[in-house]
Amino acid sequence: MSQDTILDVAIVGAGISGIGFAARLGRELPHKRFVVLERRSRVGGTWDLFRYPGIRSDSDMYTLGFSFAPWRSDNAVGSGAAIRDYLEQVAHDFGVAPHIRFDTRITGADWNSSAQCWELAIADAPPVRARFLYLGAGYYDHDRPHDAAIPGLAAFGGEVIHPQFWPADRDLAGKRVVVIGSGATAVSLVPALAAAGAAVTMLQRTPTWYLILPSKDRMARLARRLLPAGWAHRLIRARNARLQDMVYKRSRSDPEGLAAWLKGNVRRALGDAWNEADFTPPYAPWDQRLCLVPDADLFRTIRKGRARVVTGAIAQVESDSIVLDDGRRIAADVIVTATGLALAPLGGIAVRVDGTPVNLGERWWYRDCMFSNLPNFAALFGYLNAGWTLRVEIVADYLCRLLLQMDAWGARVVTPVLPPDREPEAADLFAGFSSGYLQRGAHLLPRNAAKGPWRLEMDHFTDRAMLADAPLDDEWLRYERAPLVESGAST
Ligand SMILES: Cc1cc2nc3c(=O)[nH]c(=O)nc-3n(C[C@H](O)[C@H](O)[C@H](O)COP(=O)(O)OP(=O)(O)OC[C@H]3O[C@@H](n4cnc5c(N)ncnc54)[C@H](O)[C@@H]3O)c2cc1C
Repeated sequence: MSQDTILDVAIVGAGISGIGFAARLGRELPHKRFVVLERRSRVGGTWDLFRYPGIRSDSDMYTLGFSFAPWRSDNAVGSGAAIRDYLEQVAHDFGVAPHIRFDTRITGADWNSSAQCWELAIADAPPVRARFLYLGAGYYDHDRPHDAAIPGLAAFGGEVIHPQFWPADRDLAGKRVVVIGSGATAVSLVPALAAAGAAVTMLQRTPTWYLILPSKDRMARLARRLLPAGWAHRLIRARNARLQDMVYKRSRSDPEGLAAWLKGNVRRALGDAWNEADFTPPYAPWDQRLCLVPDADLFRTIRKGRARVVTGAIAQVESDSIVLDDGRRIAADVIVTATGLALAPLGGIAVRVDGTPVNLGERWWYRDCMFSNLPNFAALFGYLNAGWTLRVEIVADYLCRLLLQMDAWGARVVTPVLPPDREPEAADLFAGFSSGYLQRGAHLLPRNAAKGPWRLEMDHFTDRAMLADAPLDDEWLRYERAPLVESGAST
């Protein structure tokens, strides 16, 4: 590709969001010249980066997988490696692989109004230019996890591991391992570490709501036996999306009822090992992400005495132990800080328009994926209460429709224009979610209206209908053609 070339579309990221959009783009608009720019050496994003023991999906793979690429395993919950392999297969089968440029980190994106394109600065390589920019760069900092500022951690004499950077082949058999945290990461790690022979303590400041489900979906297996693979996959995907939606809506309409049901299941799974204080969160189900425990494996591990849960606040870490506020002491050889992610919505990319920095926190979402007064730009942020991929696909459909329409109208630029005097009233971006990483990073994300197009919607079915029906000639989208006399780069 010559440096003068202006591509039609640049996609940043070869995770679920980037591959999902690229696959749809390649199919719907085969004439478009596009590239997928990925800083890592492999596809997968999250599912390539995280390699801690036991890593697995927290949603079923029929909704975390794509509608157009059946998930063929009997396991409804995918291991990290299986999900990465699936994404690699999708990239191969749907013609995305040849478009991916690995080891390519974008550091800046500058919209050049006169050339009507994005100029992407790349670490240690010449820039790339493209008309339309789609960021599938994820939502958290891949280089720097959240620092929970655990007092005295630097004085700990044993090993401290963060799950985001799990050392390859680390054997923890026979070690006393304290996993700090109680979310999806901690819950997947604890049974895996215990199975590998470690004596594990899950130390939590506050309990989490757990949903116990079987890891093998019998109905999916039956559907696969009776129907062609694609039909079976889409059927189970539609059912699971509805079930997720029902559980979420129940958490809003009847939080006490749902809480009692969830807690009852955990109590039964734990039997004599049940301790009310360890499994009674101080918030309602789905105020933070509901945590899946397939086959109750965490609770079976605790029941067998191979792991335990301790609830309390850390006063101080000492050279060989963790001391809690109430004076309890937990001896440790290894501390695993499963304390969360640091939000980073633009993949660390400095976005500018004609050299002026863009503060995303001052923009408004437009139809889930674009931003007020930012031309030819889209980014993907998935659902908090449903599989990420459900959004990837409906946004990909919408953007392909938009790009096709631009071709039909001879437009080169599209901007959702929001004049300052028409800004809507801001609503909660996270639909009441109180998870720490969201609250810490909320100022980095665009603003959200209560309804209408200036919004990131968290209800998948409302969202799907909204995007499918979204007019492309509404009062907000402004289209521009190429200038009559063009100078400079070729297209
Ligand atoms: C441990 C863990 C478990 C999860 N489990 C689930 C689950 O079960 N269900 C669910 O719905 N969600 C889950 N999530 C959320 C998960 O991140 C999404 O499911 C999904 O994988 C996000 O895909 P993505 O492509 O948007 O982002 P990512 O997976 O983060 O991929 C982004 C890609 O962009 C690349 N990139 C970023 N910045 C740049 C740059 N500047 N230049 C070039 N390349 C760049 C990255 O290297 C990466 O490959 C989980 C998250 C974590 C951390």
